[in-house]
Amino acid sequence: QHLKKYFAIPGSIFSRNIGKVKAVDDVSFDVHKGEVLGIVGESGCGKSTTGKALLRLIEPTAGQIFFNGEDITRLSEVEMRKIRRDMQIIFQDPYASLNPRHKIEKILSEPLLVHGIGTKESRRRKVSEILEVVGLSGDHAKRYPHQFSGGQRQRIGIARALIVKPKLIICDEPVSALDVSIQSQILNLMEDLQEEFGLTYVFIAHDLSVVHHISDRIGVMYLGRMVELAENEALYKNPYHPYTKSLLSAVPNPDPDIKQERIILQGDVPSPAEPPSGCAFHTRCPECMDICKSARPDFQQVTEDHFVACHLYGDGFG
Ligand code: SF4
Ligand code: MG
Repeated sequence: QHLKKYFAIPGSIFSRNIGKVKAVDDVSFDVHKGEVLGIVGESGCGKSTTGKALLRLIEPTAGQIFFNGEDITRLSEVEMRKIRRDMQIIFQDPYASLNPRHKIEKILSEPLLVHGIGTKESRRRKVSEILEVVGLSGDHAKRYPHQFSGGQRQRIGIARALIVKPKLIICDEPVSALDVSIQSQILNLMEDLQEEFGLTYVFIAHDLSVVHHISDRIGVMYLGRMVELAENEALYKNPYHPYTKSLLSAVPNPDPDIKQERIILQGDVPSPAEPPSGCAFHTRCPECMDICKSARPDFQQVTEDHFVACHLYGDGFG
């Protein structure tokens, strides 16, 4: 609820003010138990920061985070540790997140050790089981990360998140660093695991087709703000926000009957250190109106389960 994360940046030599990057600027959403909530946006839009803040791997500047109805925003590190067992994260770059000097056995049993789970023998058994679950073999436990391909390493990253039997997994661009041919294998694996173990995912990606493949609902972020949130098909077939429309227009549509016009946005994403006034998208929006330059649009519900932050959809729309 109203999640904010501001990072301080040094002021210029003419000013002693410390500047702020509003990486996440008042974002509210919920994640339903057992669903996959996709979060999509260009790099620097605040989606990873949002994901890490949900686990409090990054401390939010303001706002509240509820997990199973409990406000976890101000829990101590010790109290958080119990909850972290239920909340895991899978990172974008599996190689960077696996210690190259440790065997897979050690890497995978570490989360168990941290949470005081099992005996040495039972941990060894769990490692071997979880390797099978992610499509590797128990023998792989004796190897080092560099002995695996990128896709296999991401399977290890997934195994590490799964081994403590979490309820929620933040998937921070888990397939972005992989070859396209490997991406769908990993996505399918993650989809199967989600069903098999009744997991809840927050699935972060910059690629809309990846998010479309796996999500029940999708949230679209732009410059630290959530601009649209809807059920997957609703967002895909009937996007409201001009930014979402432009993202979708870049995804090839296999149906030849649908004439697709590519919406090319003007300019680059502005710096989050100096976000535009009003609607942060107004500098690039093809439908910009006067009000957009001064007033920030509320993130509001426009139809059932469809939220959007845009002045085109004022009171009474729908
Ligand atoms: Fe475009 Fe205005 Fe809507 Fe922002 S509020 S997306 S500038 S129409
Ligand atoms: Mg990121």
